[in-house]
Amino acid sequence: MIVVMKSGAKKSEIQNVLKQIKRLKLKPHLSAGIERTIIGIIGDERLFKKEQFSMLPGVENVIPVLKPYKLASRDFKKSDTIIDVAGVKIGGNNIVVIAGPCSVETKEQLMKTARIVKKAGANLLRGGAYKPRTSPYAFQGLGKEGLKFLAAARRETGLGIVTEVMESQDVELVAEYADMLQVGARNMQNTKLLRSLGKIRKPILLKRNFAATLNEFLMSAEYILSGGNEQVVLCERGIRTFVEYTRNTFDLNIIPVIKQLSHLPILADPSHATGRQDIVIPMSRAAIACGADGLIVEVHTNPAQAFSDGDQSLTPEQFSTLMRESKVIADAIGRSLE
Ligand code: PEP
Ligand code: MN
Repeated sequence: MIVVMKSGAKKSEIQNVLKQIKRLKLKPHLSAGIERTIIGIIGDERLFKKEQFSMLPGVENVIPVLKPYKLASRDFKKSDTIIDVAGVKIGGNNIVVIAGPCSVETKEQLMKTARIVKKAGANLLRGGAYKPRTSPYAFQGLGKEGLKFLAAARRETGLGIVTEVMESQDVELVAEYADMLQVGARNMQNTKLLRSLGKIRKPILLKRNFAATLNEFLMSAEYILSGGNEQVVLCERGIRTFVEYTRNTFDLNIIPVIKQLSHLPILADPSHATGRQDIVIPMSRAAIACGADGLIVEVHTNPAQAFSDGDQSLTPEQFSTLMRESKVIADAIGRSLE
């Protein structure tokens, strides 16, 4: 349920609504806009009646939210949410590009890649120190040492860091180094991890699981938001279908649909969605054209030697082309890629 206060509602009237929410053992979520204050009521809607709020002074309207997600929904917040990651604004009219290797391999590899993507115009640096690999025998990431290399790359290039966290017990450590914490596709419904991320105050990049419905995706965002962390960026990274010529099927349909249903920004990951270096650039153009707020792309100085995801990693030259062409598409739809 969402309580919309009258424009010019008194502070005491807002307090009164909050008191009523507490009395009913529910949780309030306050959004004080320029025009009016909106209060989300979190909790079991069967436990109270609309009239317990609609009749209070200063209340203009009480809207039941029929969708299972509330804080993530446009009903709760009409305007696009803009999330600041180390000074880079994700959402609104901006288009951002996050680029870097799949895995942090060595300090030299990371520093070199960071310099290259920075020069080509990337806004943030990606790189996994904790890797969720299909095989237990494959490279699992450098762990804390990888985080240190990422911090060194930020010191040198000024690029903010996006890196994956796989377990709730690692959240504190990863948050010390990262500017944005990534939840990988495999962990999208790891509710313990999502709850831990709800407790911190750092931006989260939530990737869609390859078998998740739209509702499940937004409910995972809801876990983080309801914990009090409002900085969630979504990411479409491909889903499983019968198609076998690509690693996944890029569900670009979800991007404009999410834009209608949610105020949260959504990025697109053409690397994991396709698994093919040769089609990452055209699918990046498509993702921006259909309304994505940016891209997260894998780049490697020598894709053939990459410890993970070499098949889908762009060479530095290809990444420069991607940046150039993405700017053209962004301009064409009146958005800015700085
Ligand atoms: C990654 O970003 O390298 C990654 C493992 O992505 P996903 O979780 O989408 O597979
Ligand atoms: Mn990868």
